[in-house]
Amino acid sequence: MSEVTPRFATGAPQNLEERFAGRAAHMQPSEIRSLFAVASRPEIVSLAGGMPNLSALPMGMMADVVQKLILNNGQEALQYGSGQGHPKLREQICEVMALEGIRANPDDVLVTTGSQQALDLISRIFIDPGDVVLAEAPSYVGALGTFHQYEAKVVHVETDDLGLVPDGLRAAIKSVRASGRRIKFLYTIPNYQNPSGVLLPADRRTEILNICRTEGIFVVEDNPYGLLGFDKPSPNAMRAEDSENVIYLGSFSKTIAPGMRVGWALVPPSLKEKLIIASESSILCPSNFSQLTISSYLADQPWRDQIASFCDLYKVRRDAMLESLDEHFPVTAKWTKPGGGFYVWVTLPEEIDTKALMPKAIVAKVAYVPGTAFYADGFGSWSMRLSYCYPTPERIREGVKALGGVIKTEMARRGGNQLN
Ligand code: PMP
Repeated sequence: MSEVTPRFATGAPQNLEERFAGRAAHMQPSEIRSLFAVASRPEIVSLAGGMPNLSALPMGMMADVVQKLILNNGQEALQYGSGQGHPKLREQICEVMALEGIRANPDDVLVTTGSQQALDLISRIFIDPGDVVLAEAPSYVGALGTFHQYEAKVVHVETDDLGLVPDGLRAAIKSVRASGRRIKFLYTIPNYQNPSGVLLPADRRTEILNICRTEGIFVVEDNPYGLLGFDKPSPNAMRAEDSENVIYLGSFSKTIAPGMRVGWALVPPSLKEKLIIASESSILCPSNFSQLTISSYLADQPWRDQIASFCDLYKVRRDAMLESLDEHFPVTAKWTKPGGGFYVWVTLPEEIDTKALMPKAIVAKVAYVPGTAFYADGFGSWSMRLSYCYPTPERIREGVKALGGVIKTEMARRGGNQLN
């Protein structure tokens, strides 16, 4: 009698690595993703994730918006839509961008599935293997992962307490060009940067734009946090000064809700067609349902006030974090003092390896993201990103206190070892 073969094979097929396309080898899980499983355990204070805090978003109001949309315009909301994005939403996006000094034509806006998709599309149309992307040191882990998948070489540019250093940018361009590589674009997050929380001042914006224009390098300005300034508005967007050489990325993830997955790219007209074709090949069109929900929300609800309540909520958390860092972290540690956004960047004495320290932090019931996640070259081992956006102020204080204890113990242990 023949053996009964199972109908569905279990386990991975043989020689899978050989069967993948070459580019699949560059698809690696991010350091952050593997960390989230641990960090999301309820007993752990997670200072790791950058999840927007939706407790300030009135759910009854959102439910009304969605219900009205489906009842009044369900046929359109649940249908396919335009590859470039819904025309009405593109107009409203221009009104949102006007808050940061941008004058734009809705025709130049491409709606995307979060700004993460825009990063993917831009990488797809610009990057050949080995091309260079310039980025702040440190930079957003999700963008670094995308650039890596397209086999770009990320070259980090010097930053200080005010963000990108123009002379550092000049030096990086010079040394990359001397090595014979092509620079495709500068990727920058000028407002309340992820992961450093730093805000780039207006004069540096102008200088950086001038350098890039002169050198023939596009600027990709990623701006999800620009409207989340706590005490004063951020300077005008870089795109407000240069409509030819800046590819601007925006998102409703932090000002409304990330679950909507609605972001956009505002692009120089010469790039639009390629980006639309690239987007259609991956998603056909952005979700009409999400776009029209956002559009109705912007049309009928006090969205500016809503952003102000998000800012109030984050500001209280930022204060809790900075106060408890002062109280509980060693005097040799340094950290940024963000005026908006979600993140504080901590630099410890060089002998502390924040990745190796992570298991001890987890035992102490606190999680963070080790600094190396934000560099393409393994740098940053003595730094860490702390997010204050999600936990309550009390939990933030608890977490920072526990983490300060872990760091001090490690420093004492190392000091002790050196004496031995
Ligand atoms: N850019 C930056 C700097 C971010 O911090 C994030 C999300 N954390 C994104 C892009 C992606 O955001 P989304 O796709 O939700 O718009």
